[in-house]
Amino acid sequence: MALHDPNETVLAHVRGQHRLFIDNEWHDAASGKTFEVRNPATGEVVAHVAEGEAQDIDRAVQAARRAFDERRWHGLPPEKRANIMWKLAELFERDARTIAEIEVIDNGMPIAFAEWMVGSVVQGLKYYAGMITKLGGRNASPAIASDTLKMHAYTSVEPVGVVGTIIPWNGPIGVMMIKLSPALAAGCSVVVKPAELTPLSALYAANLMVEAGIPAGVVNIVPGFGATAGQALVDHPEVDKISFTGSTATGKKIVQSAAETLKRVTLELGGKSPVIVFDDADPEVTIPGAAMGIFANTGQVCFAGSRLFVQKKSYDKVVAGISDFAKGLRIGHGFDPANAIGPLISEGQRDKVSRYLETGVQEGAEVVTGGSAVDSQGYYIEPTVFANVNADMRIVREEIFGPVLVATPVDDIDDLVRAANDTRYGLGAGIYTTDVNKAHLTAARLQAGNVWINGYGMMHPAMPFGGYKESGWGRENAEDGIRAYQETKSVFVYL
Ligand code: NAD
Repeated sequence: MALHDPNETVLAHVRGQHRLFIDNEWHDAASGKTFEVRNPATGEVVAHVAEGEAQDIDRAVQAARRAFDERRWHGLPPEKRANIMWKLAELFERDARTIAEIEVIDNGMPIAFAEWMVGSVVQGLKYYAGMITKLGGRNASPAIASDTLKMHAYTSVEPVGVVGTIIPWNGPIGVMMIKLSPALAAGCSVVVKPAELTPLSALYAANLMVEAGIPAGVVNIVPGFGATAGQALVDHPEVDKISFTGSTATGKKIVQSAAETLKRVTLELGGKSPVIVFDDADPEVTIPGAAMGIFANTGQVCFAGSRLFVQKKSYDKVVAGISDFAKGLRIGHGFDPANAIGPLISEGQRDKVSRYLETGVQEGAEVVTGGSAVDSQGYYIEPTVFANVNADMRIVREEIFGPVLVATPVDDIDDLVRAANDTRYGLGAGIYTTDVNKAHLTAARLQAGNVWINGYGMMHPAMPFGGYKESGWGRENAEDGIRAYQETKSVFVYL
């Protein structure tokens, strides 16, 4: 496997000291403990990171609370905040390659995927920087006026306060910033708990926050484990809102814990997204679209199109086409741009996906391509396509979070829609057809927060992103995204 040397800044960051970022300063963990971070492409330990626990979370929350109560951020003129956020976007743009390379080392993703993700961070920051100067409430006086009552009534929109954000490992900087950008635009203070497997890009970004001019205490970053640091953030009485991205199982635990203090909660959770292919679909568009819908980032994407439903006449051709496409995807280190499939995030995740591959075979599914882990130091698995599956199989029902596609032949539109919606999740869905009416009629019947037609996986700050059913609560991006970090106040003035 060809390997390119990361740039000096990347190496200096990865090999450097990784401490907790609180009040724009670096601190050791109160316990003095650190944890190891591995490069999933090689299995090697690449960094030791301060391990935040309840005491450190408390320190970070207090810092965020002070910053909020002293109005260090939301008290600034909107134009000034907008300029700082725009500057932050430019700093991400300046350091895009460095951040992307850190992600490759920390997460294993292909460099092109990492660069796309950093690009989306820049886009999101600029989008929300622009929104800051357009925020405002409503004047409701005319609506409530009567012959006898004279009243001036208006709403003001305010930041929700101190926000705890909890981040997964599969898109570290992208998921952190899809939360931070609207939270900062709304005027909140934030404590970030990155995933224990991938804290390095968040810690790099801390320096950019300082350079951009974000005041002390507004953004705090405390790496640590879910059961300790994450749980402490959810339980903390001074946290007003939790914005979580991760598994549905953890999301449910968070809701239960947050109920104690009735925190506001938004959740971006797991998925088992369907991709529907009609007989009239264009194979040139469908085959690469459906293949990369599942195999991008080695299937470690929340909205990965992991269940394929093809109308019967085209079924064999489409499954064979996707399988051939999968065979052509080169597996290897993310720094080699010729590699399309990186490693899974960890040994544990590789073993979990391997067990699903065995389960599929035991359940009677047919392996059309792939089906094995790759014998290597890193945590690689072949892109896999299963046929002959039925709706009760575990590989069809459960989120595998690896490069595994299950394919089913289906009759007509009713059948396709029923099969696609037969899941507890509702994050994404794909439709391939050349019939525009059929495309819209099908989209309307799918229970999914995001539907892609003749393509897969587009996200944009102007388009809300989120899930139906057990894929989450609320939406990120667009106006919905900032609403998640705001409270509305109604003010009545008796005249
Ligand atoms: P996870 O739920 O195991 O962990 C996510 C984060 O939660 C980590 O930071 C972890 O430390 C923390 N955590 C764990 N237990 C906690 C607790 N009790 N209290 C507070 N925090 C806790 O998920 P993961 O394995 O890191 O990520 C993969 C999952 O994330 C998949 O299910 C994937 O679909 C989902 N995901 C969803 C989206 C989306 O936008 N819907 C995006 C990316 C990933």
